[in-house]
Amino acid sequence: MAKDLRLKDLILAYREEGLSYKDIADKTGVANAYARNICSRDRRKKARLDNECSAPGICRFCGATLTCTAGARKKEFCNDKCRSDFHKQQKLHRPYVRVCEFCRQEFVSYGYPKKRFCSRDCLTLAARGGKSA
Ligand SMILES: [Zn+2]
Ligand SMILES: [Zn+2]
Repeated sequence: MAKDLRLKDLILAYREEGLSYKDIADKTGVANAYARNICSRDRRKKARLDNECSAPGICRFCGATLTCTAGARKKEFCNDKCRSDFHKQQKLHRPYVRVCEFCRQEFVSYGYPKKRFCSRDCLTLAARGGKSA
């Protein structure tokens, strides 16, 4: 087992140096295909690890650290609930620029695109049928 591990390391080390599979096979006494097999398996493993380590993300909704599954796409949320809550919240806080129907001033309404008045005062005055100054 240990010997086998060393052999693999040796193969990988030679590969790192840029040797061809044939050269590696000659040097270590393994079959050409075996050397190739070892290297490609190692490359896949490394790619998986990179994927894992380069993306220790944080849930955009609750801020929890995300553990990503090996080989999986980068996640942005810990689960579907966080994802939908996040989008719900986004919608809630989306600013809409509106013009008050009473005082004609622009104001920003968050999450409510059909808001008609900038303030309760304007709403009240408009409801009383008052006129804008
Ligand atoms: Zn979350
Ligand atoms: Zn107003």
